[in-house]
Amino acid sequence: MGRYSVKRYKTKRRTKDLDLIYDDLSSKEKISALLNQPLDETKPGLGQHYCIHCAKYFETGFALKTHLRSKVHKRRIKDLKEMPYTQEVADAAAGYNLDKFIKRVEQIKNVIDPNKQSNETELKNHLDSKLENISTTEPTLPQDFLDQQVNSVQNPQQQ
Ligand SMILES: [Zn+2]
Repeated sequence: MGRYSVKRYKTKRRTKDLDLIYDDLSSKEKISALLNQPLDETKPGLGQHYCIHCAKYFETGFALKTHLRSKVHKRRIKDLKEMPYTQEVADAAAGYNLDKFIKRVEQIKNVIDPNKQSNETELKNHLDSKLENISTTEPTLPQDFLDQQVNSVQNPQQQ
């Protein structure tokens, strides 16, 4: 029994929960921050090719472009169209806080979801134009970006 739970703990990979991703997509500020992440060598592709819907980093723009056309990504978009699973939903299912639940549903339907939809359209247009002409041979990042990164690591006070 104990052995089982240790194994589970070790192999379980936490990805971002759908309700958090839903929140990201509902906010222009969060989308902008996720699209403009600082160079990070601990992340694939230095953190520059991120799929917000899937909370996943890619090595290259081309890999991201391929991913955006994949079944996995399209299924995720569909999943995110469903109302996110919130504490209010859980409480309502248990028979508590029904008023709070109804208010939350109204808020999602009238405010949050329309925002998310328009953000997603904007995001898609942005990525489509950014990745339109990208090729497999294109380097991950322009060389001067990489040079800047080296400089900022060596001389952090100059930033
Ligand atoms: Zn994706």
